[in-house]
Amino acid sequence: MYVTLHGLVLREVKYKESSKILTILTEETGKITAEAKGAMRKGSRCAASAQALVWSEMTFFENRGRYTLTEGSVLEDFAALRSDLADYALGCYFAELLEALSDEDSPSAALLHLGLNALFALSRRLYPSRHIKAVFELRCMCLAGFAPALDRCARCGKHAPEEPRFSVSGGEIHCAGCQPSTPGKSLPLCQGSLAAMRHVTGAGPKKVFSFTLEEDAAARFAQVCEEYALTQLDRGFKTLDYWKSVS
Ligand SMILES: [Zn+2]
Repeated sequence: MYVTLHGLVLREVKYKESSKILTILTEETGKITAEAKGAMRKGSRCAASAQALVWSEMTFFENRGRYTLTEGSVLEDFAALRSDLADYALGCYFAELLEALSDEDSPSAALLHLGLNALFALSRRLYPSRHIKAVFELRCMCLAGFAPALDRCARCGKHAPEEPRFSVSGGEIHCAGCQPSTPGKSLPLCQGSLAAMRHVTGAGPKKVFSFTLEEDAAARFAQVCEEYALTQLDRGFKTLDYWKSVS
């Protein structure tokens, strides 16, 4: 039967002569894998949609959980990303993180919309790319069930910890003089970077990117968000390494 879904292509892999295998995050059914038959042929009705980092309305032929993309209508292609190597690489990292945090048969509209908003902000240069990346990483972790405990020092309970630090393995804040409850690496914060983390974990979806930080605080915020994601997920990302090598 034919089904119409709204999806963001996270990954494309060339398949056979002129086809692609796509990993797609859909609004309706979560992550799916689909074959885009003949997507690389001239005149294909799904060519424009069958590309990484393109958001489309897609029609599939579905048979026992196997999807074949038959037609696509592009809703947003984030075209500017394709003309900047570093921005495109960062967009691919966002996609790889979304792929790692999403499941099949389990839609997460919030995660998908965060991804679309991050790609939109990156393609329109609404904020520095480091800012978009850090907000995206931390908010992704919250949506995937790894929300950090930022309310008070995990040891002494102070709402405003002295010389605040963030334990990336415990996902909690603590004063420099208080031991975190989980052993492992902890990174220095400051009032600005801690306020930023609290904002990202608590703000509504439309406001999550909307704040500015001084240079030093922005650097601490960026480091903490990246290390928190990598530590909690216990893995690296090839696309992240690539972005670092080109940015
Ligand atoms: Zn304390």
